[in-house]
Amino acid sequence: MGLCLGAHLFIARGFLRTIEEAYRLGLCTFQIFSRNPRSLRTTKRPENVRIPFSVFFLHGPYLLNLASPEEEIYNSSKQALVEDLLWGDSIGAIGIVVHPGSHRGSGREKGLYRILYALEEIIGKVNTKCKIILENTSGSGTELGSNPEDFKFIIDGLQDKSRIGMCLDTCHLFSAGFDIRTNKSIKETFDRWFSLIDSSYLILFHTNDSKGPLGSHLDRHTHIGEGEIGEGGFKNLLSFELFRSRPLVIETPKEPAGSDEKNIKKLKELAEIDKSL
Ligand SMILES: [Zn+2]
Repeated sequence: MGLCLGAHLFIARGFLRTIEEAYRLGLCTFQIFSRNPRSLRTTKRPENVRIPFSVFFLHGPYLLNLASPEEEIYNSSKQALVEDLLWGDSIGAIGIVVHPGSHRGSGREKGLYRILYALEEIIGKVNTKCKIILENTSGSGTELGSNPEDFKFIIDGLQDKSRIGMCLDTCHLFSAGFDIRTNKSIKETFDRWFSLIDSSYLILFHTNDSKGPLGSHLDRHTHIGEGEIGEGGFKNLLSFELFRSRPLVIETPKEPAGSDEKNIKKLKELAEIDKSL
C-alpha cells in the first residue's frame, strides 16, 4: 500500500491557497488549525467549504484543556471542542486532533476523570462524524496522555467509543521516553501501546523528528532526519505496517523556505530504501 503523506498547513490566506499548497506538495492529506490556536473564543469560520480531499484533519487550539481543574477553562474547552466538531462536520474533516489535557496539580487520576466526563458530555451533546482524536504528549509538567495507560483509562471509560480516535506523534513518543530508533525498540513501543489499546483506534501519526533527547519531555519538533530520532529511526519506523498504513502528517518547522517539500521528500526516500531491500 502506498504511503499517505501529509503536512500541517496554515490557512491564514484562505482555503483555496491551502488546497493549492497541498496539491503543490503532492500531499495525500493535510491538517489545519480548527481556529486561532491561542483562542477558545467563539469564532466565525467559512462553512460548507468543499474540500477536494477525502482525508484531512483539524488540530485543536493549544489552550484547550479537558483536564483543567479550573471551571472556566474546563467549560470553555468543552464549548470550543463542540463548536470545532460541528465545524469539522461542515467541511468534512475526519477528526480533530487534541491533546488530552493537563491536570495542573490536581493529580493524574482527577485529571483523567475530568477528561472522561468532558468527552462523555461532548459526545452526548453533538452527534458528529468528525471524531475526537486524542494525541499522545511528551509528558511535560502536568500533561496527561504521554503513556498508553492514560489512553486506556479514557477509552475504557467511554460508553460510546465510536467517536474517539488516537494520534501518535513520533516526537512526543520519543521525548516521553519511548525509543523508536531501532526495529527492536519500535516493536517494543508498539507492543506496549497496542497490547493495552486496540490499534483500530489509531487514526494517524504526527511524523516529526525530536530536538529533545529520549525521555527529555521536551516538545520540540524538528526536520525529519535532523533530530534525535534521525534518518535511521524513520527508516525503521517506515518498515512497520502499523506506521506505513496510517496517514503520516508532518508538523515540522516551516523555516527555511521549502522545508515541507524537503521533509516530505525525505520520508518518501526513506520508505523507498526499505522497499528495495
Ligand atoms: Zn503533533
